[in-house]
Amino acid sequence: MSETMKAYIEEAEGALLHTYNRFPVVLDRGEGVYLYDIDGKKYLDFVAGIAVFALGYGCGDYKEALKSQVDKILHTSNYYYNVPAIEAAKKLKAFSGMDRIFFTNSGAEAVEGAIKTARKYGFLKDGRTDHQIIAMNHSFHGRTMGALSVTGNAHYRDPFEPGIGNIRFADYNDFDSVLRQVNDRTVAILLETVQGEGGLTPATEEFLRAIRKLCDERDILMILDEIQCGMGRTGYGFAWQKYGIRPDVMTSAKALGCGVPVGAFLMTEKVGAHSLVAGDHGTTYGGNPLACAAVSKVLDLFEERQIPAHVREIAPYLERRLDELVSEYDCILERRGSGLMQGLVFDHPVADTINAALEGGLILINAGANILRFVPPLVIEKEHVDEMIRILRASIR
Ligand SMILES: *Cc1c(COP(=O)(O)O)cnc(C)c1O
Repeated sequence: MSETMKAYIEEAEGALLHTYNRFPVVLDRGEGVYLYDIDGKKYLDFVAGIAVFALGYGCGDYKEALKSQVDKILHTSNYYYNVPAIEAAKKLKAFSGMDRIFFTNSGAEAVEGAIKTARKYGFLKDGRTDHQIIAMNHSFHGRTMGALSVTGNAHYRDPFEPGIGNIRFADYNDFDSVLRQVNDRTVAILLETVQGEGGLTPATEEFLRAIRKLCDERDILMILDEIQCGMGRTGYGFAWQKYGIRPDVMTSAKALGCGVPVGAFLMTEKVGAHSLVAGDHGTTYGGNPLACAAVSKVLDLFEERQIPAHVREIAPYLERRLDELVSEYDCILERRGSGLMQGLVFDHPVADTINAALEGGLILINAGANILRFVPPLVIEKEHVDEMIRILRASIR
């Protein structure tokens, strides 16, 4: 590491609040599926800013679209219409099959909006304010108080209790455990279609369909968090689309802007007509012209480049190469995941492997202590998978 990089890291640690154990690298720029640090060292990127840079770095006219929006106007206010927001909403509606969209600045904020939508929906039904939301153990929904309250990880939640309250937890992929939490105050069931931080676990078709049926029968809102698993990552626009169901409310963020901070919560026409109205919710920046120019261009490029189809084509190859490692190494217990959202479960912490990979020019991240997570840009090709496997092999002790 250069003296310059060392000095930067020292400065960072002297000024930033230490809420992350950062890797000892100062990243500088990206090109395709590669990143470069300020010393010019090249890294193959299998993290993509944690499932953000779906299109890789410097894709097509994405940067040009942003630059031209910068020249026009960065921000108006949600009290006025702007063309990028209108375009982005129209395209996201078509891409998602949902009916009504609220743009946010982040994933956590999209989850907050979904929670408020559910509470308002319940309030309009019976005027009560004691409705309950069922969330899942091992889920992750973000760090703000509402999103944290529905996150099924006591380690994240405990120091910040009390949360928003009236949340009950069930076990993922265990419908009976969901049924045990349902009562006449239940207003929503919230889950990730594929659990990300919690261990790269896809929902079973049986589980999602059973929840859909239960929600229909009892007028409960089914809320799917697609912040990590959405936007083409599993080979579908949104992961739920392959299950033959539709949620009542869903959240998106991460790859939605491919690097520009933006999220959204989306709902059906019916929920839109029976929940938030003028004055109930707002944001200064959410869905501003810059963010929406990004969303709009990302969705254009997804279509032009047939991103979900590309994921369906390349993911089986990644799965096969990872499965080879599972059968070869005793310390690797299993592979889990869907599409280009995969995990290798080790019988020991993976921190050393990640550090060795970084040293070897490969960027990887964990999901929990023992799981290596693979969420590369969606535009990777077989040769990148091969290169990743080569460096990873050298990094496993
Ligand atoms: C990352 C993530 C969030 C939180 O998104 P932020 O933009 O970090 O607030 C919420 N839900 C899931 C499933 C995520 O992966």
